[in-house]
Amino acid sequence: MPQNNAKLTFWGVRGSTPTLERDTYRYGGNTACLELSVANGPHFILDCGTGLRMLGNHLHAQHNRWTRWQGDGGIEAHVLVTHYHWDHIQGLPFFHPFFESQNRFHLYSFQSKYLGRNSLRQVLESQFASPYFPVDVSMMSSARFFREIEGGEKWDVDGTHVSTAWLNHPQGCLGYRLDTPIGSIVYATDNEPGVPEFDNNLRQLAQGADVLVYDAQYSPEQLSSTRKGWGHSCWLEGVKIARECKVKNLILFHHDPDSSSRMVDGFLSAARQEFPCTWAAMEGMSATLSERGVDVALPESRLGQRRRLRFAVTVSGQTVDGVSFEEKATLRDISMQGAYLSLNNRPRLQSELRVVIEAAGEQNRSSTLALRATVVHCALGREENQNGVGVFFIEDAESESPRD
Ligand SMILES: [Zn+2]
Ligand SMILES: [Zn+2]
Repeated sequence: MPQNNAKLTFWGVRGSTPTLERDTYRYGGNTACLELSVANGPHFILDCGTGLRMLGNHLHAQHNRWTRWQGDGGIEAHVLVTHYHWDHIQGLPFFHPFFESQNRFHLYSFQSKYLGRNSLRQVLESQFASPYFPVDVSMMSSARFFREIEGGEKWDVDGTHVSTAWLNHPQGCLGYRLDTPIGSIVYATDNEPGVPEFDNNLRQLAQGADVLVYDAQYSPEQLSSTRKGWGHSCWLEGVKIARECKVKNLILFHHDPDSSSRMVDGFLSAARQEFPCTWAAMEGMSATLSERGVDVALPESRLGQRRRLRFAVTVSGQTVDGVSFEEKATLRDISMQGAYLSLNNRPRLQSELRVVIEAAGEQNRSSTLALRATVVHCALGREENQNGVGVFFIEDAESESPRD
C-alpha cells in the first residue's frame, strides 16, 4: 500500500438480516462489516456481520501473498463491535483467520447488562455452543484478546486514535471514530435520532470527519411513523448531521432488508440534493483517505459477466461538477445477467444452452459473442409453436478476471 493513506472497505452494508433477492443485490446483501486498513499502521474491522466471512477470505489470500516475502508473522487486527444484534455478530464463526494459530485479534465492545462481564467473549463462544454449530470454540486457535469499553472512552492503536460514544439504540450501541494520521472516519450505525443526550454524543463524535458512515435504514416517512422506536435513522438525519458537523463525505449505510436497490438509489439522490458529497454504501465499495482527500471507488460490476463488445452509443448525464452533457461514445463491454428467447425447441429446465449473438464489430465487421446460459423458464409463447425461454448467463472460466 502506498505511503500515507487509509482505506475503508465495505464488506457488508445491509441491516437486520442478509438478503439475496435480485432486487437488493446491486447494493449487496451481507450484513454490517467494514475494514479500515491504515498504511504502515493498524488494521481495523468494524462489526462482524455476515460480510466478515468474505473479509476473512480476502485477508487470508492477501496474507499468503505477503508471507512469501516476509515470513509468517500472522494477521493482526483490532475488531470494534458496536453492539450484539445478529446483523453485527453473525459472521464471527465464519471468519477463517480465527482458526489459524499464527493470527492475533484484539476485540472491543461494551459490557451488556443482559450478559455481564466478558460480554463479547460470551457472544462469540455462545455461537459455537451445541446445537448451534458443528465444532466447539476450541477449534479457533488464533490468539484473541477481549477488552471491554464504554461510551466516551479513547485510546490509541499504533498512531490511530480511537474514540467512542453511546448511540440511541435498543440494548445499547457504540459509535466509533478513528483518527488516522491521514484523516478521520466515523462509524455511527444503529442510531435513532431525537434524544438530546445521544444526538449530542453523535455530533461530538462526527465533528469535522472526512467520512461519516451513518444509519440510513428507513425513509424519513417511515422513521416518523411505522418505524419510530425501532432504533434506526434515515438519509435526511444523516444530511443534517453532516452539515452541522462539517463532515466532508456522508455514506448512507445499514440498508433495510426490504429496501430494493431502486429505493436506495432514491434515498441517495434525495440526499445528494441536500448534501452533494453523499454516497450509498455498497458491498465492495471503498473510500481511500490520502493527501488528495477522499477517493470513493465502487467494485467491479457485481451484476453478471462482463463481455467485450463494441457498440456506438450516445451518452448523456451529469459531470462531477453537476454540468449536463451528451456525447457520442463507444460501448466497450457490457455485463449481462440473462435474456428471454423465442425458440421452436423446448429446452429442459436447468440445462445448458449456448447462445451466439451477432454483434456489430469495429469498422463494420460483424463479430459474434458466444454465451453459455442455463434455462430458468420455459413456457409456450404467444407466437404459435414457439416456446418462451428465459435464460441466465453463466460464467466462462476464462472470462473471469482475477480480482484483488
Ligand atoms: Zn444493525
Ligand atoms: Zn441493532
